[in-house]
Amino acid sequence: MKSDNFSEWFNELLVDAKIMDVRYPIKGLYVWFPFGFTLRKLTYDMLRSLLDREHEETYFPLLIPENELLKESEHIKGFEEEVFWVTRGGSTELEVPLALRPTSETAIYPMFSIWIRSHADLPIRIYQIVNTFRYETKHTRPLIRLREITSFKEAHTAHTSWEEAKKQTEAAVALYKEFYDRLGIPYVVSRRPQWDRFPGANYTIAFDTLMPDGKSLQIGTIHHLSTNFAKTFDITYEDRSGNQQYVNQTCYGISERCIAAVISVHGDDKGLVLPPEVAPTQIVIIPIFTAQANSEAVLKACNELKHQLSRYRVVLDADDTRPGAKFYKWEKQGVPVRIEVGPRDISKRAVTLVRRDTGKKEVVERSKLQARVAEVMTEVLNTIAERAQAVLRSHIVAIETPEQAKGKKGFFQISWCGSESCGLQLQELSEADVLGEAEPIEGRCAVCKTPTNVRAFLARPY
Ligand code: ZN
Repeated sequence: MKSDNFSEWFNELLVDAKIMDVRYPIKGLYVWFPFGFTLRKLTYDMLRSLLDREHEETYFPLLIPENELLKESEHIKGFEEEVFWVTRGGSTELEVPLALRPTSETAIYPMFSIWIRSHADLPIRIYQIVNTFRYETKHTRPLIRLREITSFKEAHTAHTSWEEAKKQTEAAVALYKEFYDRLGIPYVVSRRPQWDRFPGANYTIAFDTLMPDGKSLQIGTIHHLSTNFAKTFDITYEDRSGNQQYVNQTCYGISERCIAAVISVHGDDKGLVLPPEVAPTQIVIIPIFTAQANSEAVLKACNELKHQLSRYRVVLDADDTRPGAKFYKWEKQGVPVRIEVGPRDISKRAVTLVRRDTGKKEVVERSKLQARVAEVMTEVLNTIAERAQAVLRSHIVAIETPEQAKGKKGFFQISWCGSESCGLQLQELSEADVLGEAEPIEGRCAVCKTPTNVRAFLARPY
């Protein structure tokens, strides 16, 4: 069960609901089943449509020459233990080893240096959805901790000033909020402490959600890079007075952890519960045949309904498996709406509609079905979003001493003077990480007792 053993529930559901096959013979690499890949496609189509409002999609190579990767010293320090290297072409040793991108700053920014000449070239906002590779030594886990991240959406922007770049980070926060709101995933947004920012960034803002086992999952990050990379990669533009200036940059990413969140936050003991917008099948129609029934009339009605509801992704499951087995199968795959049609429904010109999120049944007249289905799709998203939000809220707990967080589930808020040494002390005593700052309240730092209104968010992250 999900509540007893989340990890086991998650691993079993990935296979049972045909999301990922974990039998590929390389640690940390997994295979998308077609059903899982459709869920991924629909989720990333939504993300893509949000980005396309003000970004352009692009593609940069997988391989990065060693000399470029090593240029930014802080950046490489953050990644050097995680890089996979290509050192040979056939039997020939390469003169310059090539890295499989762990992330693409060092692939993209040398090109920015060529592309950007004048203030008229700015801002640049691009993104790509690609695989990236990290030599993870920790325990790997499908969708969550991977050696091949298959679906990394990374956006990279360049601007004329620090202020403009800051505005871009705010726009990115708004965009990620909309993305997760449409998935019904609740989140905490916070600025990571300086010791935990992205290597090479000025500051990092992160989205975290709560997993059913009480740990936090980082599901999106946004970085203000200031001029750090611009100085390393010589990305300059001529301003209006003819002077050369460094650009200010941002980058922000979301990986397939967004799918892990959808599965984990909404799923239940019967299987997936999917937000309608990304459900590979949104409606399943199931004919109920009885011994004395006119099955031809039932089937005819089902086909009419399928046609009537064709603006949705709808499946008519008319094979001769027993209805109970079909319910089980489609519930596992998280189909938001099930429509049952039996002989009695036909005589009443009605159908039975069953919601996956609540299991509630209702009889709907066929003439009102279209309108009712549209309402139900919205209600399903609202219901699962509110349910998840309530769980998250009830797991945000204010504590007085860091020890109170030990071994407990959820997010904790505790007074903190903001200093790194006290922050690290908080982490050690609570056995949790400082994610960032919570809403301010007057108090005294739980470590050094200095009066402060800052409070830290603590959680045990994946
Ligand atoms: Zn302190």
